[in-house]
Amino acid sequence: MKNVYILGATGSIGLQTIDVILKHTDKFKVVGISLGFSNKDKHYEIIDSLKPEIVCLREKDLKYEKDFPRVKFVSGDEGLISLVNYPKKGIVVNGISGSAGLVPTVAAIKSKKDIALANKETLVTAGHLIKKLIKEYEVKLIPIDSEHNALMNALIGEDIKNVKSLIITASGGAFRDYNKEELKNVTVKDALKHPNWQMGPKITVDSATMMNKGLEVIEAHYLFDMDYDKIKAVLHKESIVHGIVTFNDGSVKAVLAKPDMRMPILGALSYPKRLESGIEEIDFTNLNLSFYPLSFEKYPLLKAAYDAGKKGGLYPTVLNAANEAAVNLFIKEKISFLEIEEIVIKVLKEFKDNVSNPTLEEIIETDKKIKEEVYSLC
Ligand code: NAD
Ligand code: MG
Repeated sequence: MKNVYILGATGSIGLQTIDVILKHTDKFKVVGISLGFSNKDKHYEIIDSLKPEIVCLREKDLKYEKDFPRVKFVSGDEGLISLVNYPKKGIVVNGISGSAGLVPTVAAIKSKKDIALANKETLVTAGHLIKKLIKEYEVKLIPIDSEHNALMNALIGEDIKNVKSLIITASGGAFRDYNKEELKNVTVKDALKHPNWQMGPKITVDSATMMNKGLEVIEAHYLFDMDYDKIKAVLHKESIVHGIVTFNDGSVKAVLAKPDMRMPILGALSYPKRLESGIEEIDFTNLNLSFYPLSFEKYPLLKAAYDAGKKGGLYPTVLNAANEAAVNLFIKEKISFLEIEEIVIKVLKEFKDNVSNPTLEEIIETDKKIKEEVYSLC
């Protein structure tokens, strides 16, 4: 039995993690969960079905404590830290969205827990620190992000020195067939209609602006110690091929799967073993796969991410924070879709306080400052 902690249990990744675990109750035991403001109607059902020992709420609520006397309740940001510090070994699934996921990841590593990481913002903002911490505390960090999970699988048994390039695929998001003119008047509702994946609102908007792929390029850089020039992103509408590795002898390894996050979630939890997922097999006699280049002109945020990644230091934090705040403003209908990229690019251009190898405190402070700056624009 493996003990599991789920951060963000009420989100898209969280709920799919619960689904996977309830199909393998002989293999996994959920010890702790954090519940968010979303899907509040599911809170009691989740606690009843998983019977966790510790639950973190966003805000203290005495009703929960009365209704579940056997559960230890904690709350807020401090509660998340108590949750990952709970004195039972295990693996922490980080399904929190945004930079709020960083501090709990650091605390979980320091508490010697393995990490199944969906929260890509952790690596985007603090990849250099996380890599050091994983070594120091001797824990495993397994990516849940489908492209990175695919790359990790393709790289098993390989010498990274023989890798020519890492290729991640992008479905293209809600507006893949729109031109710039058509993007001027798109609505939040339009942006939240992803063609292939059911995800939380922030990442769904990021898929439409291609910022998601930009963040994933930075994520891949840290996970696989790969130069940015060797990391490529291509448009692949079908979302069947998730990650591709090309080698110096001309061979190529690709990992294919139906677009269903339960596969990488289960893979991360059971790693290095494989378990039955129940996901339908691919029918290779009825399969069309297409690949196209992604244009920096159409997707300036993809270019901004490469640039920020290459500059390093606090630039990826600035990129991520400006984007998080701008996407939030877009979802609240305060700015238009195209203003997201305008804001992020402007904030990056004006940023002058870079430092190399920033500390966790510097990252947290910059994240906060940049978000405040963007919110003050509206
Ligand atoms: P979501 O919005 O559906 O869920 C996010 C969860 O985080 C919610 O439970 C919310 O309550 C919690 N949360 C948000 N802010 C918090 C805070 N300050 N403190 C504590 N909890 C907080 O998002 P999602 O789609 O599940 O994505 C989660 C993460 O996984 C993101 O980093 C995303 O990029 C990554 N990811 C998601 C998918 C997917 O298919 N959904 C795929 C790849 C990667
Ligand atoms: Mg992904």
